[in-house]
Amino acid sequence: MQLVCLDLEGVLVPEIWIEFAERTGIPELRRTTRDEPDYDKLMKFRLGILAEKKLGLPDIQAVIASMGPMAGAKDFLDRLRQDFQVIILSDTFYEFAMPLMKQLGMPTLFCHKLEANAQGILVNYHLRMPNQKKEAVKRFRELNFKVIAAGDSYNDTAMLGEAHAGILFHPPQNVIDEFPQFPVTRSYAELRTEIDKAAVRI
Ligand SMILES: [Mg+2]
Repeated sequence: MQLVCLDLEGVLVPEIWIEFAERTGIPELRRTTRDEPDYDKLMKFRLGILAEKKLGLPDIQAVIASMGPMAGAKDFLDRLRQDFQVIILSDTFYEFAMPLMKQLGMPTLFCHKLEANAQGILVNYHLRMPNQKKEAVKRFRELNFKVIAAGDSYNDTAMLGEAHAGILFHPPQNVIDEFPQFPVTRSYAELRTEIDKAAVRI
């Protein structure tokens, strides 16, 4: 039985924080782990800005809903789900992803959780576990699934390495250079071709 694990941001939907920063005109929210490697500090900073701007979860979700998935994403995913079990593994949060998941036909998503107060202001975040993408793939293998994984960035490479087959989608050049073992795809058609090739091989 074959399972396809897909990253979410940069593969099916835009980078949520970056797109959110653009749409709300809050440049501070463009800050990523490249600028602040301490993830906890980065998240507390982001939640602090949202609270300061009085943006509660419903406001945030309305902005995220308006982003929509990437062009062609739903079609790609619908077809993929006809031939494989598909699980999306993401380091985003359910509360952020849900407006986009509805537009993608509610595929299965494993990610993290946010905590809001009674006013809807986000006060904390909860990671289910560290390295959940890689750990999930490891567990699927233990359940005797053959796993094909695809993602776009550095934080996917452990998951890609853990899978029977790993595929990069629209990766930045530094990831291509550092991980030459993974095939590089730049469109949904190419990604689907690589998934099908991997499915025959594994
Ligand atoms: Mg990504």
